[in-house]
Amino acid sequence: MKKVSLSVRIFIGLLLGVLAGLMLQSSPAVATTYIKPLGTLFLNLIKMIIVPLVLSSLVVGSASTGDVGKLGRIGIKTLTYYLITTALAVMLGLFLANVLNPGFGLSIPLDATAEAKEIPSMVDTLLNIIPTNPIQAMANANMLQIIVFAIFLGVAITLVGDKGKPFLAFFDSMAEVCYKIVAIIMEFAPIGVFGLITPVITEHGVSALLPLLKVIIAVYLSCFIHAIVVYSGTVYISAKMSPATFFKGAAPAMMLAFTTSSSSGTLPVTMKCAEDNLGVPKSIGSFVLPLGATINMDGTALYQGVCALFVAQVYGMDLTIVEQMTIVLTATLASIGTAGVPGGGLIMLTMVLQSVGLPLEGIALIGGIDRILDMARTCINITGDMACAVLVSSTEGELQKPAQKSI
Ligand code: ASP
Repeated sequence: MKKVSLSVRIFIGLLLGVLAGLMLQSSPAVATTYIKPLGTLFLNLIKMIIVPLVLSSLVVGSASTGDVGKLGRIGIKTLTYYLITTALAVMLGLFLANVLNPGFGLSIPLDATAEAKEIPSMVDTLLNIIPTNPIQAMANANMLQIIVFAIFLGVAITLVGDKGKPFLAFFDSMAEVCYKIVAIIMEFAPIGVFGLITPVITEHGVSALLPLLKVIIAVYLSCFIHAIVVYSGTVYISAKMSPATFFKGAAPAMMLAFTTSSSSGTLPVTMKCAEDNLGVPKSIGSFVLPLGATINMDGTALYQGVCALFVAQVYGMDLTIVEQMTIVLTATLASIGTAGVPGGGLIMLTMVLQSVGLPLEGIALIGGIDRILDMARTCINITGDMACAVLVSSTEGELQKPAQKSI
C-alpha cells in the first residue's frame, strides 16, 4: 500500500486540530491541559536540532563553496532579493488596506497603553553580529552570530587546505546526522501540528475575531497575492520551476510555520524541504535559509503596512503619501529586526506606528487577533526564504533535481 505523503498527513493533523478546537470552545481547559503539550513536545524537538543543524550545515556549505568571492556573490544576491521583496510586501499591504479600509466605522475605546520599542542603533546592531563568545551565541541560539561564526570556520577550513579536511569531515558527518534527526522528528509532525493548532482555535472564538475581520482579510489576502505573484514569479523566471512544484515542495514547512508562528522554529524543516523537494544544494540552502529565517520577513512587513493604516483609520488620521513611504521604509527595517518567534512582529509594530506619529495604543487593538495574523505572516516569511534559495541556486547554476525521497 502506498504510504500517504507527509504533507497530506500534516494537513489532516491541521484540519483535525481546527475541528477539535471548534468543538472544545466551551471547555478550553481540555485543550490546554491535554492537547497543547503534544504541540509543545514537537516544538521542543525541532528547537533541539536548530543550533547543531545550522552550525554544521553552514560550515560545510561555506567550506564547499571553496572561494570567498562566490560566498560574497551569494550574499549580495540574497540580501538584495530579501530587501526588494520585503519592500514590495509592505507596499502591497498598504495598497490593500487603502482599498479595503479595515479601520473605517470602528470606534474602539482607548484604555490600553503601550510602550514604544527601543530601536537599537545601527552601529550596535552591526557590532552585535560578531559573537564575542561563539559558545554563548550557540547557547542563546543567536542565529546571526552563529551564521558569522560558521562562515569563518568554513572559509578558514578551505584556506587551511589538507589539514582542515578532518575538521570538515566531522561537520559533514554532523550535518548528515542532524538531517536524519529532522527526518525522524518530522514523522511526529502531524500530531505536533494537531497539538499546536487546537488551543489556538479554542482561545480565539469566532466572536472575538468578527469586529476585526477586515484586518484579517486584508492580511490574509495580501499574503496570498504576495505568494502567488512574487514567489511564483521568482521560481518561474529564475528557474523555470512551476509554481505548483514549488508550493507542493514547500508545503510541509508552510503548514508548520502556519501552526507554530515561528520562522526559527520551522527552520530545520524549511531546510529539509528546500533540499529534498526543491533541489536547493546544501551549500546554498544552509546560508540563505537561516539568514532568511532571521532577517527576511515579507509577511511581517506586509502585516505592519496593513496594521499601520488600520490604526490610522480607527483614529481618523489621514496618512499622506510621504507618510506611507515612511511606513514602507520603517516596516522593511522593522521586519529585519523582528525575531522569528511568535508575536515578534507585534512588538516591532510600535516602531512603525511611532515613525509616523500614530498612537501606540493601536497595538492593543491588534493584540487580540495577533496570533491569527501571525500564522499567515510566518507562513509567508519562510516561503520567501525558500523562493530566494531557489533563485540563488538557479542563478549559480546549482539547482539540482529534487531528491527521490522527498518529504
Ligand atoms: N512570528 C513571525 C515569525 O516567526 C514573526 C512575527 O511575529 O511577525 O516569522
